[in-house]
Amino acid sequence: MTYQVTLIPGDGIGPEISAAARAVLEATGVTFEWDEQAAGEATMAGEGTPLPDRVIDSVRRTRVALKGPITTPVGMGFRSVNVALRQALTLYANVRPARSMVGVESRYSDVDLVIVRENTEDLYAGIERWVNDDEAESIKIITRGASERIARYAFEYAVRNGRKVVTAVHKANIMKLTDGLFLDSCRRVAADYEGRIGFQDRIVDNMCMQLVQKPEAYDVLVAPNLYGDIISDLAAGLVGGLGLAPGANIGEEAAVFEAVHGSAPKYAGQDRANPTALILSGALLLRHIGETAAGAAVEEAVRAVIGEGAIRTADLGGTSGTRAYGQAVAARVQALRSAA
Ligand code: NAD
Repeated sequence: MTYQVTLIPGDGIGPEISAAARAVLEATGVTFEWDEQAAGEATMAGEGTPLPDRVIDSVRRTRVALKGPITTPVGMGFRSVNVALRQALTLYANVRPARSMVGVESRYSDVDLVIVRENTEDLYAGIERWVNDDEAESIKIITRGASERIARYAFEYAVRNGRKVVTAVHKANIMKLTDGLFLDSCRRVAADYEGRIGFQDRIVDNMCMQLVQKPEAYDVLVAPNLYGDIISDLAAGLVGGLGLAPGANIGEEAAVFEAVHGSAPKYAGQDRANPTALILSGALLLRHIGETAAGAAVEEAVRAVIGEGAIRTADLGGTSGTRAYGQAVAARVQALRSAA
């Protein structure tokens, strides 16, 4: 079977890490027909937009995309391309696993968190305005529909992946209506899973402190958009940095797999970026399309290469380039296949 997948290389470090991730996915033996779609800075001049409609059309058609990071143009009237893509395709669940990796120096060795972030509303709704020259406001949108949908996704994820406890993150003590509605929605959904999946809630500031002190005590976290964004970078920091943190944006009609990090423009074109986060996002893509063994092989290959320590990128204290590291992971995937 050949899978049609949209490949959005992105800009900044995107093209380099996308090439590495593509080679690793192809090394699994799963066959892909890539529909490569340029987006971001490269399309601004020719097409007048960083997110041409053809990109969204392609993802609608293939239903699956691997996406490199895209720079958000500053001060040109464009909102984030990444946020726009998630909203256009209603990719309502942003799933970001953060797991300790042997050989990566970090404060903890036993972190295994999954952050499920609501991806369509909250302060990301983009409803901002100037009240006057010295005052601006932004409106926070929380609906019961989107909150119950993300809570259900988190519980179903827990069931499918053998997880035990879902923790809802909020600030309902202060934002009694919006975050109160989010928490109430989570509680309602939790009732359907009673006896199967545990449920608790934490106020976001306390959550941050507890994640820094005892991350091993937490399992699946579900949060509105903004807290989910912040907590997932915090979690990435707990396991060794942004270069290692994968992500998935899931909707009913499509799913887009991308790293948590951005386009890191200062490393663009230098063969210096760590492609691991996008490679692991590719592993999530493989699991999503049902190629579970191939996804597991990619994860194992990454762990093996990083664990051995000889070939690592600069962010992990090594001297290898993006390309050499990607080739080492691809070779390891092939070796695992031959051994199987
Ligand atoms: P960033 O994640 O691009 O980079 C922050 C820092 O983290 C970098 O300077 C670098 O030191 C390190 N880093 C990130 N990824 C790395 C990797 N793969 N290997 C090694 N080091 C890595 O964040 P930023 O500088 O705030 O954002 C740059 C641009 O990316 C902005 O335009 C932002 O809007 C955009 N962005 C895009 C996405 C996305 O495409 N989903 C996500 C976040 C930010």
